[in-house]
Amino acid sequence: MSASSHTKSPTGRLAGARLSVDLGALAGNFRRLQAELGPIPCAAVVKADGYGLGIRHVGPALWDAGAREFFVAHPGEGVILRDLLPDAEITILNGALPGMEDDFRAHRLTPALNTLGDVARWRAYASRDGVALPAALHVDTGMCRLGLDKREFAAVTRDPDLLAGVDVRLVMSHLASADEPDNPQSANQLALFREALAVLSASLPKPLLASFAASSGIFLGPDYHFDLGRPGIALYGVNPTPSQSNPMAQVVRLQAKILQVRDVDTPETVGYGATHRVDRPSRIATLPVGYADGYLRNLSSRATAFIENIEVPLVGRVSMDLITIDVTNVPEALSQQGQWVDLIGPGHTVDDLAVEAGTIGYEILTSLGARYHRDYISGAD
Ligand SMILES: *Cc1c(COP(=O)(O)O)cnc(C)c1O
Repeated sequence: MSASSHTKSPTGRLAGARLSVDLGALAGNFRRLQAELGPIPCAAVVKADGYGLGIRHVGPALWDAGAREFFVAHPGEGVILRDLLPDAEITILNGALPGMEDDFRAHRLTPALNTLGDVARWRAYASRDGVALPAALHVDTGMCRLGLDKREFAAVTRDPDLLAGVDVRLVMSHLASADEPDNPQSANQLALFREALAVLSASLPKPLLASFAASSGIFLGPDYHFDLGRPGIALYGVNPTPSQSNPMAQVVRLQAKILQVRDVDTPETVGYGATHRVDRPSRIATLPVGYADGYLRNLSSRATAFIENIEVPLVGRVSMDLITIDVTNVPEALSQQGQWVDLIGPGHTVDDLAVEAGTIGYEILTSLGARYHRDYISGAD
């Protein structure tokens, strides 16, 4: 339980702010996505330290929930994950730059091959030692970021031998606008991906695993599922269907303790730049969270927080280590020094805070700071 682990350890007792990560809710979200995919396996994307929640906890919890395929961005993230999960399939989305090949082989990391140069280099590396080294082939269908571009793909179409000798186990592409169900770009990308798979399955020797849908793509329906779902953000509780209610369970709770409460009865200003003016008798509480903790400065004068179920506004600017909230409407018994305040909680989701900050849940999660005391709880799964 979060309260007990919080008081047991010295870092817990000393913490003015705590981040609770509900690994039971995470596992439930994995199963929810798996159910959406039906018979098709669901992978787990755990890049950026498990979307900021801690890959050392998130990786094994997802394995226990049934995930066997994992994706990360950086090779270094793959090395950490390999230590945690000796039997997982780990694909590195950023691929292997020249000189990294030995490390990929030593840690059994599968590179995404993003260019024809990557293909040729991986083939040369594998053939030098006469081993079959698996790879994923990333075909760009509309992101213009990573993956074989149109010209490269046309070259493969003309000369299928360009892929000969490479053990391609997975062909993938990535949707640009899957969170907008009415955006025609998804259907265009789907057509391009199908064309690419038709060309590749004619030139590659064995049946290919195809992977197309990340979190939002899974909710575009079975046409987008192919052989492997590839969700990240939905696992962590952010809404993959922004135009509808959130099918995922919340995983994260962020709370901070009141450090000081100040009664203000004369006109006064709060914080740097004096951006907030108090012009009626008020009570202002200070919390030990700031932009150094990833509580974005853009939340200044815009965020809300909750004390139990009472909404309180953030007032003034977010500073490095502190924020200020107006607790005038909160009973004094609930707004004393030491009182816990929810910055992200049951009544105020990651998505809510993202809207207040003018950003997306991805940035809120991956910004979560290193100073929070972290409680990993199994929760009510
Ligand atoms: C990050 C990423 C994903 C996961 O996307 P979510 O929107 O977080 O589900 C899947 N595939 C690729 C290529 C990615 O970069």
